[in-house]
Amino acid sequence: MFTSIAGRSVVVTGGSRGIGRGIAGVFASAGARVLLVGRDRSALDAAAASLEGEVATVVADVSDRDQCDHMAEVAVERHGGIDVLCANAGIFPSARLTDMTPDDLEAVLATNFKGTVFAVQACLRPLTDSGHGRIVVTSSITGPITGYPGWSHYGASKAAQLGFLRTAAMELAPSRVTINAVMPGNVFTEGLDGLGQEYLDGMTASIPQRRLGSTADIGYAALFFASDEAGYITGQTLVVDGGQVLPESRQALDEM
Ligand code: NAP
Repeated sequence: MFTSIAGRSVVVTGGSRGIGRGIAGVFASAGARVLLVGRDRSALDAAAASLEGEVATVVADVSDRDQCDHMAEVAVERHGGIDVLCANAGIFPSARLTDMTPDDLEAVLATNFKGTVFAVQACLRPLTDSGHGRIVVTSSITGPITGYPGWSHYGASKAAQLGFLRTAAMELAPSRVTINAVMPGNVFTEGLDGLGQEYLDGMTASIPQRRLGSTADIGYAALFFASDEAGYITGQTLVVDGGQVLPESRQALDEM
């Protein structure tokens, strides 16, 4: 049995929909006090209303360090501290190298990479004060393991998160704050839905389990990293993808 996480204060960036809302739902169901973070007030309110348990919200853009500081202040005010940060907010616009503008590149790195660093920096003091701080980063298989045309900047941002966390894990180890990453495959979210049915069907066919991931699949992996029992695990990654990175070829999938 794992020690209960009930009453712990959990911050989830990008908690207003998709994987973030799924992570928040898993933590809230386990009795944690959750703060949802996003840029859209109405989306945050709708997400909070859809979740059971103690759920608060704050509008903040993670690409802005000051707004991350505000997010952390609200978590401390509302929930008395921060035990867990799920640095999940991310965007995945498509741009081929031939068309990618400096602004395209900056936007993806600002939210996905800098936003992860800023959120961690902002929450560091309360995470340390908790005595058992946990940071769970949402990376991806895209970038660290796989590639997809149009997502070179996105893949780089997801790999950058992992480069960041390995040194961060060392710097944070003396204060017993752990930092680990979940690497989702293709998870059915509002963001993924926007890529169209052809994309979803193609992806489903390439996954050995023949289904897209659910947001709860990612939430349970985050809950494990956040547990007391995972306290000796830091600087590590966990692929959650239904086996998507395993097939050596299309033929390997056909022969299953
Ligand atoms: P999504 O459905 O589009 O949700 C993204 C969330 O992030 C929303 O709550 C969004 O709210 C928030 N967000 C975006 N930019 C933000 C910013 N600058 N500041 C604060 N919040 C921001 O996306 P998702 O599919 O759940 O993806 C979530 C994370 O999982 C991302 O890091 C993504 O890279 C990763 N991931 C997803 C998949 C997948 O298959 N879906 C696979 C691998 C990895 P607002 O727009 O209202 O701010």
